[in-house]
Amino acid sequence: MNERVYNFSAGPSMLPLSALERAGSEITNYRGSGMSVMEMSHRSKVFQQIFDETQEKLRRLMNVPDGYKILFLQTGASGQFSMIPLNLMGPNGKADYAVTGNFASIAAKEAAKYGTVNIAADTSDRNHSYIPTQEQLKLSPDASYFYYCANNTIYGTEWQYVPETGSVPLVCDMSSDILSRPVDVSKFGIVYAGAQKNMAPAGLTVVIIREDLAGHELPYTPLMMNYKTMIDKDSMYNTPPCWCIYMLGLTLDWVAEQGGVEGMEKLRTLRSSMLYDTLDNSRLFHCHAEKGSRSGMNVTFRTGNEELDAKFVQEAAAAGFTNLKGHRKTGGMRASIYNAMPVEGVEKLCDFIKAFDKNN
Ligand code: PMP
Repeated sequence: MNERVYNFSAGPSMLPLSALERAGSEITNYRGSGMSVMEMSHRSKVFQQIFDETQEKLRRLMNVPDGYKILFLQTGASGQFSMIPLNLMGPNGKADYAVTGNFASIAAKEAAKYGTVNIAADTSDRNHSYIPTQEQLKLSPDASYFYYCANNTIYGTEWQYVPETGSVPLVCDMSSDILSRPVDVSKFGIVYAGAQKNMAPAGLTVVIIREDLAGHELPYTPLMMNYKTMIDKDSMYNTPPCWCIYMLGLTLDWVAEQGGVEGMEKLRTLRSSMLYDTLDNSRLFHCHAEKGSRSGMNVTFRTGNEELDAKFVQEAAAAGFTNLKGHRKTGGMRASIYNAMPVEGVEKLCDFIKAFDKNN
């Protein structure tokens, strides 16, 4: 196959073509350095510049206030499930978790090893097809933090509001919707994301942390799981994921060219409303997520007939729309339409859905 496909993978996923092409053109000799970014010492001047500029670009695009540190880590988003309680549970020994999907559920179970976890909401009663309202959250005023996952990648639901928790710091997993809409970082204690959906290749985890939250870790916290270690050494206590940081910088250039996070939000609204409209107006397809809770990034849908779902996935792949099979927990289909998915890819997918709906 010589042509690029419309890749609807949930992650790792499509990256902006301009970022890939730029990386390609610099792959053996980065801007006259005589070597690839993959071959550079992380302590070299040339890499330090890439690192500093990438951090600065992210700070600018997400409007990260003073008093917050941006960390480039290698833990995977899943590593944060442990790192967060190890560092934040301490003060009150108790944390609130909203369980709205698979990853929030794993995070809550992991946190329970380190303190008392209060389940502030649990949406498993309707197979995680909705997001709780503010009024439904059972909050503990003395929690060390409140944890939630902004976008549930598997179930295709997304929080449309930032929970109000008074003085309890908010901790948010934004792995699958970071940089897709404006976020007021000042409302959060920690925002974090695995990079492999909207930012860079897999291997980088971005953590934005209010600096005063670090330094209260549990006594047995491993050195490498301590935010303080990484804050003090500006993410360079050990070798950071250099190539991913470089790729993030190239992706952020593209985001800035498209009008920043506001530009990304316009595109995401265009893509997702087109797709939901097509599905809502079809005869065969039903969306998993309830209206009002639907994700702008992962659109989950099914026909209700497993054979027909399989036929759809197979015929779509043959037509150049790949990775549309849903996660085993939801079945059916899932179209992940992250920042780098061209609007045209969704337009063509909608045409394909309409034709399939007519012919089956
Ligand atoms: N959180 C969310 C919302 C995710 O979608 C994923 C997986 N894609 C994870 C956490 C786990 O990420 P990782 O594979 O980087 O540990």
